[in-house]
Formats: sequence, structure tokens, C-alpha cells
Amino acid sequence: MSGRAQLMWDEAVTEYDFGPGHPMDPVRLTLTRKLIGALGLDREVHAVAARPAGESTLRLVHRADYIEAVKAASADPGAADTSYGLGTLDDPAFRGMHEVSALIAGQSVAAAEAVWHGEALHAVNFAGGLHHAMPGAASGFCVYNDAALAIARLLELGAERVAYVDVDVHHGDGVQAAFWEDPRVLTISLHEHPRTLFPQTGWPQETGAGDAEGSAVNVALPAGTGDAGWLRAFHAVVPELLADFRPQVLVTQHGADTHFEDPLAHLAVSLDAQRAVQLACHDLAHTCAGGKWVALGGGGYAVVDVVPRSWTHLVGIAAGRPVEPETVIPQSWRQEVYARTRRVGPLRMTDGRWPVAWADWEAGYDPANRLDQSILATRRAVFPLRGLLA
Ligand SMILES: [Zn+2]
Repeated sequence: MSGRAQLMWDEAVTEYDFGPGHPMDPVRLTLTRKLIGALGLDREVHAVAARPAGESTLRLVHRADYIEAVKAASADPGAADTSYGLGTLDDPAFRGMHEVSALIAGQSVAAAEAVWHGEALHAVNFAGGLHHAMPGAASGFCVYNDAALAIARLLELGAERVAYVDVDVHHGDGVQAAFWEDPRVLTISLHEHPRTLFPQTGWPQETGAGDAEGSAVNVALPAGTGDAGWLRAFHAVVPELLADFRPQVLVTQHGADTHFEDPLAHLAVSLDAQRAVQLACHDLAHTCAGGKWVALGGGGYAVVDVVPRSWTHLVGIAAGRPVEPETVIPQSWRQEVYARTRRVGPLRMTDGRWPVAWADWEAGYDPANRLDQSILATRRAVFPLRGLLA
């Protein structure tokens, strides 16, 4: 039933391009795909190019008038309707925007379908994780919310419990909003505090509504949080909630913008800690979700030094062949980096911080410490709602 992990990839996803000067440079996807190949991981995965998400699939999350607005902006970028967040600085309109956004969404939806039907135990779409898109608006470099669409498709297929864990440096606001009143979906987001970062949401007190109170979880980390703090927060919140919720599928979003080199945010996490969290997510999929795991990309704007390495680790982990941190990166890939960017690529698959240590929450906490205050705020806001001890 397991088979090889499925890697979703269609070269055309690199047409998701907001133009020169925009931080979301599609070279990050190209370089990731090439690094996966350069490290020999192609032999370990089943690469699949899925079809774009169609209208009825997009409608599982998005409003019809918004989809029409995206199509109109896609056909005539100059006429983009900014009231839908289109044609803005964050989400400039470009020709073909609808088609490529639907293509990326289609990869995540197909990943979810493959995992649900048991065609693959794990599936990765690193071009996805566009978690800020709202039902009726583009936001934060995101047009269609492929993460929310993958989850909505799982529900449509009959899933009763889906967990979403988002470790992008930004709050997973669009996914949270899509399932705000749906108790079938547990959303957990770890991110830099809304006081210092877009989208200024993701407070611990945001816990969902109605029947779904307690199904949105937010850990708002102080700016400057590093490896040990980030891992401490993850392990103080995520495993206990997943063990209790027992999702049928685990969907994770691995934005690489927590990294200390990322130009758009202020956490101080290394590649090695990102890899540790990816390994933890894989373990949690097996211990809590019968192994069913859909892993997505997300943000990440250090497009040469960080993103390709981070998501190559993710693919290696999903493929059952984790890339060792000390691995030397093939010269062929570094030549490709130079040819495309005139920059010098990294030498190894590590930032030199492996293995990453952290202090376990169960061993005690310090009420005067700002990180521990953040963790405690989350546990107090949501654990009692789920019948767990804060
Ligand atoms: Zn982000």
C-alpha cells in the first residue's frame, strides 16, 4: 500500500512569476527540482504531473466571483481588480495567472487524492503551500490556496479528520479561515508573532468558531527565535494535539522562510532545524495518521542558499532516503546556480548545526521567558477546549 513517495512536478509551475524584483522568484522551484535530481532522489520517488484544478475543485474553497476576477486579470493583467487583492504590489497580475495557479493547486489536490486512495503513502508538492489565499481574495503572494483545496478535497472524499501543520514563518491565515467553523480540520500554525510580521494574525486566542472552537491553534513566536526555541515550541504543542486528534491524513506546509538568512522575516532558524521538523512531521504522520502524509512547500525568499536545500531534504525524508546533512552538493548543481543567478551556491546540505538540541517542555518551563510565555499562551487558549491539560 505504501509504494514510493509521489513527487508532484510539472515544469510549468515555474510560470508562477510575479515579475522581476518580486521576492517569490520561480528560480527557487527550478533550483529545488534540479537539486533533487543532482542528489539522485529521482530514483526514489514517483514523479507525477497532475492536471490543473478545475472549476468545481477551486469552488471547494474559492468564491465564484473571485475565480472570475482571477481569470479576467489573467487574460488582461492591466484590468486586474484590486478589490480582490489582484494587481497589487504583493500579487501583481500577470498573463496566465489563473492557469498556473490552478496548475499548482492541481498538484496539491492530486497529492491528497493519491495519499487518500493509498496510491502513495506520502506525496510532496513543494510548489504549493500558498497558504495566504482567501476564499475571495489573493493575498501575500498567493492566488489559489492549494493547501486548503487539498484538505477540502480530502473532506469531499469522505475524510472526517484532517490535520494541517504549518511551519512557515507567516501565519497560515487562509487555511485557518477556510476551516474556521469546521471541526473536521485541525489547523496548527507556528509563526513569527503577528505584532512584527504579515499578515498580523495568528494570535493564540484565535481558536475557531462554533462547533470548531479549539480546532485552530496558533503559536506566535517572538522575533529572533532560533533553532532550540523553534523545536521546543513545535514539540510542546504539535505531537500532543495530533496524538489526541488522530487525523486520517496529515497535511504539512514547510515554508522555508523561518531561516536566519530569509530577507522577509525575523526568525533565526537553520536548515538543520528545518530538517529536524520535517523528520518530526514524517514521524507524526506514521504515529498519528497511519502514515498518510501530504507535504507542501510555502514561503522562502533566500532562493539560492536556503529554499532548494530545505525542500530537497523534505523530498528525501518523504522518499525514505533522508539526505545526510554533511552531504556535499554536486558541482553540476552549483554551476546551474551560477548560470541562472550569477551567485555562488551553498557547498553542503547543512548549516553546520546538526544535530539540533532543544529542551523538552515536559521537563519544565520558565514563566519569565518570552518563548515559554508564547507556548503557554497557546496551550492555555486551546488545550482545555480539546480536553487536554494546559
Ligand atoms: Zn511565509
